[in-house]
Amino acid sequence: PAGPSSGKQQDENQKDLPKGIVLDKDGKPCRLCTSAASWKAMAKKAAASSTATTTAAATTSTATSTSTPSATQNECPPDVEALGRSTWTLLHSLTAAYPSTASPEQQTEMKSFLGLFSRLYPCWVCADDFRTWMADPRNAPRLSGRAEFGNWMCEAHNAVNRKLGKKEFDCRFWEERWRTGWKD
Ligand code: FAD
Repeated sequence: PAGPSSGKQQDENQKDLPKGIVLDKDGKPCRLCTSAASWKAMAKKAAASSTATTTAAATTSTATSTSTPSATQNECPPDVEALGRSTWTLLHSLTAAYPSTASPEQQTEMKSFLGLFSRLYPCWVCADDFRTWMADPRNAPRLSGRAEFGNWMCEAHNAVNRKLGKKEFDCRFWEERWRTGWKD
């Protein structure tokens, strides 16, 4: 992800790792902050550098394969992109289900949710940047009703799109994408 924290310790831990690996605050690689491609490159490098480790891993994976239901064996923990896609689905769906006019209580609840979300999102570099973006008074959540909240979420998503060098979404169409569906 964009914007991993730097620092001497992080640089030290990172020096033997392939490009793109983001470290957790404890200095270990953070899977939920890293793309699947970088994670795979790291695993490949680790396997190549140690035959002993490879043997141990093979033993472990054999043991696991006998106890894991076969239908789920191809399903892996999410990387930063899979986690992001699922999370945006949840976030935009929250705006789609939001009342057209929200009561003060509904607004307070959503504000709390967004505050907690921005602290607990498991890709910590993503969460840090998102919190910083939300802390700017110009980007404070707009929660009076669905139209406002849906647009705000679209702008929030576009802020991340910009940071990652992705195309921005035209927010006039957020409702077609996330609530009503497109006209045929
Ligand atoms: P996504 O960006 O996941 O979008 C999914 C779908 O939403 C798109 O296909 C499109 O139909 C629709 N869409 C796109 N933009 C908008 C919009 N503005 N409004 C409405 N709908 C839209 N990844 C990192 O690598 N670094 C980060 O720092 C980072 N921060 C993140 C912060 C948050 C809060 C979240 C939820 C995710 C973050 N991600 C980050 C993940 C990143 O945003 C993407 O989810 C991931 O890169 C996968 O992108 P994608 O191209 O598949 O589509």
